[in-house]
Amino acid sequence: MSDVNCPNCREPQEINHDDGYGYDEDKTHEQECHHCGETFEFTTEISYEYQVFCKDGQHPEGALEAIGSPRPEYGQCWACNRCDWVGFLGTDNEVQS
Ligand SMILES: [Zn+2]
Ligand SMILES: [Zn+2]
Repeated sequence: MSDVNCPNCREPQEINHDDGYGYDEDKTHEQECHHCGETFEFTTEISYEYQVFCKDGQHPEGALEAIGSPRPEYGQCWACNRCDWVGFLGTDNEVQS
């Protein structure tokens, strides 16, 4: 997945974060387009994504829904409708992720 398009030639660019460069927000960074060689500027906005899980993996009774399994040999895949957990249940009903 590319991060940005070069403003000069529109070629998709991946921002080079070597040595942590370009992670500072509220700052203008520079990178040279690998396609046309023009230098362009970019700013970085870091977004966070969170997932929530029931404490200690104790999903309330009735909160688990059977969903299609991508690996049928592992058994039925389950999703908790109270939190973001998706996984398999062991044979002893112990929740495994
Ligand atoms: Zn370019
Ligand atoms: Zn849950």
